[in-house]
Amino acid sequence: MITEVRTNTLLEIKHMSVDYDSTRGTVHAVNDVSFTIERGQIFGLAGESGSGKSTLAYALARLLQPPAVVTRGQVLYYPREREVGETTRDDGAVDVLALNPAQLRAFRWRELSIVFQSAMNALNPVLDINTQITDVLRAHNPLMTATGAHSRAVELLKLVGIASDRLHSYPHELSGGMRQRVMIAIALALNPEMIIMDEPTTALDVVVQRDILMQLMRLRNDFDFSVIFITHDLSLLLEIADTIAIMYAGRIVEMGTRNDLLRHPRHPYTSGLLHSFPTLHGPRHSLTGIAGSPPDLRSVPPGCAFHPRCAFAFAACRTIVPSLLPVASEGAEVPPAGGGQGTCVACHLYDAKLNPEGPPESLESAYVN
Ligand code: SF4
Repeated sequence: MITEVRTNTLLEIKHMSVDYDSTRGTVHAVNDVSFTIERGQIFGLAGESGSGKSTLAYALARLLQPPAVVTRGQVLYYPREREVGETTRDDGAVDVLALNPAQLRAFRWRELSIVFQSAMNALNPVLDINTQITDVLRAHNPLMTATGAHSRAVELLKLVGIASDRLHSYPHELSGGMRQRVMIAIALALNPEMIIMDEPTTALDVVVQRDILMQLMRLRNDFDFSVIFITHDLSLLLEIADTIAIMYAGRIVEMGTRNDLLRHPRHPYTSGLLHSFPTLHGPRHSLTGIAGSPPDLRSVPPGCAFHPRCAFAFAACRTIVPSLLPVASEGAEVPPAGGGQGTCVACHLYDAKLNPEGPPESLESAYVN
């Protein structure tokens, strides 16, 4: 039985934790992460290498292999149409972590697809583009004819700005930008509700990068899919994302709209990231970056994991792990706890019990000379 689901929520991640078991100790790559993605939203995940952003995205798509283990949490997916089955709850949500292999195969690509980090490595070097696109189409639509698959492949290439005469090219015959566009075309093949993009433009020059991002925005507006966009480049997310989550040592330390994060970063780490790249406007100042290095995830510092690098750390930071709590954003009321879409920060500076004086007016002093 299929009924229409009337909710704007597409995906809910609840208290997700992921570990990697190794002989040298357990790596806590993702630690108690929760957030919600709305339909049509571009959700940016930013942080330094090793902060857990890719692990988190792959975990919610069930793409992790041992030794990675999801130790805790839930991934709830709300399809547009509710199909009642064993893994569908009363509220219409599909419990993604409980999908069996056949259900998972149908879920991936049809509901959620992925654009991997390096198009050159993700595309098969010995198959032409046509074969790679039509393989996806026919694997998920066994009744689709060869002619139908070919027409759809042409249509998909056109959507990403590639002429149909490149359909029979091999990956090595295409530029880096074209290969990444092909990956986006393959991700769009079955009109998914959500696309995970893992550093999709990292290896490209800034002109091609901008071109691809503008195309992505246009496609999102035309087809209304949601995107989880993973990158270490916060400046890029500030251009395209609706909501941005900053990760550090496996946890989300701040989450909010791009305007709120840009104008009023609350977490010292977010402020440090924002002061790690030059701005085009305003007074010039030297870039200081963030002192120190990210922690070894096998032995994360106690309390706030950022405390050894934080210019604002005080006694409580060394012993108490800060929770991600809502704070008032510009022109908005404090959102309800667990509401997911308001501005949230995990920092004791904003805890009136631990820091009765309240946070400093600006965090800039730590990063601007
Ligand atoms: Fe810095 Fe303390 Fe806030 Fe962590 S909790 S970011 S150490 S002030």
